[in-house]
Amino acid sequence: MASVENTQEVDQLVRAKESAFLEFIQSKGLKTTRQRSTIVQVFFRMRGHISVEELLREVKLVNPKIGYATVYRTLHLLVASGLVEERRFGDGLARYEGRSEVEHHDHMICLECGQIFEFFNPRLEALQEKLAEENNFKIYRHRLELYGICKDVESCQHKKEMAARKAHKATGG
Ligand SMILES: [Zn+2]
Ligand SMILES: [Zn+2]
Repeated sequence: MASVENTQEVDQLVRAKESAFLEFIQSKGLKTTRQRSTIVQVFFRMRGHISVEELLREVKLVNPKIGYATVYRTLHLLVASGLVEERRFGDGLARYEGRSEVEHHDHMICLECGQIFEFFNPRLEALQEKLAEENNFKIYRHRLELYGICKDVESCQHKKEMAARKAHKATGG
């Protein structure tokens, strides 16, 4: 679940990301706008795997005039800048990830409730390198997604109901 954070540490991180983004924008000869800055600031205060709709909702709390198209375009610029990664899990919905506990990580996705768990395993990483070496191959990047179900049935059921309620609301029913 995406959540917005406001701590000193996050402030610092947001500033660093924002200036890296500005540098990228300027190198492309594009204009920096206040709306773009707002979107970038809000995005990097959020944690998790964020959809355009989730980001739009948070952005609108800061500036209700910012629309979907601007958020969408800014996210794509963030992806192009390398500061953000786009991910699509089982449901095909694009999600954006800008920061997490660990730099590189892989994902486990619950097919029931949609919860996304992050993991990093050095033994697994090393094994991949070894496999590549054995196959005379050089890895540039990899993506490991494990699909299954939460073993914590209670939390899974709860999340599932929350997600269903949200989808119900979104369709206006
Ligand atoms: Zn992740
Ligand atoms: Zn689950």
